[in-house]
Amino acid sequence: MGGRRIQAYTAAGRMDGGCPYCHRDLPEWPTRSGPCPYCGHEILVRTRPLDRERVLVTETEAEAVEMQWELSRERGGASPLRPLLDESELEAERASLCIRFGREPQPDDIAASLISHRAFEHMRRLELGSYRDVMLAKAALLDQQGRDTEALAGYLGVCFLDLNGARNPPPPGPDGVAVRVAGVVTGFSPDQAFLAPSVVARCVHLIALLDQDEDAVRAGFTSYCERQYQSLRTPRRPHETWPPLGDAIFDGG
Ligand SMILES: [Zn+2]
Repeated sequence: MGGRRIQAYTAAGRMDGGCPYCHRDLPEWPTRSGPCPYCGHEILVRTRPLDRERVLVTETEAEAVEMQWELSRERGGASPLRPLLDESELEAERASLCIRFGREPQPDDIAASLISHRAFEHMRRLELGSYRDVMLAKAALLDQQGRDTEALAGYLGVCFLDLNGARNPPPPGPDGVAVRVAGVVTGFSPDQAFLAPSVVARCVHLIALLDQDEDAVRAGFTSYCERQYQSLRTPRRPHETWPPLGDAIFDGG
């Protein structure tokens, strides 16, 4: 494995309650920064971006942790994207699951169920712009659940749809008859290809968390999106859409 790599977040600091300078076990976990009772060096308490764990760090490590937070903010990765779902549709889904389960469903189960119904409906009607939005909501939900690998695959799948110009069919004309546009039969319009900066930023953040290099990311992207290609017959195959996406992630990030 090789290829380009973006700067990863590291497991800086100690989680075992030992002094990061002299490595002796401290009598208790310090609630705030202060000097080590054994060696007298200033022990700092920080949260690191890798896993949001509280750790004990040296002053040098604290600077490195601060730089990683800086990177995380630049990447727009401070928090997962919010799954954009319609409140009234969520309420309808909650009511129907309540009847089916005979109990109050969990919020995540409601969202996941709505997402899978909407995805199926949009796919059936070839509303691929809306399908793409639902796939983004699905990735964001996985992201909020801390399922980094699955969330990354989902966001990369959204980029794949964007690079194929996924879009909804034109609305029916005044007489209610579907407007026919020459050459448009698939719900894709590659001349309208784009990449959403917020989605790319979140990919960069997750790749840094997972510490994957370009070859690993490309392999994951290709296998995930090849399945989309098989079912949607996108005009561009995964390997054709990788170059602009790889540049956006590994050169822009
Ligand atoms: Zn010490």
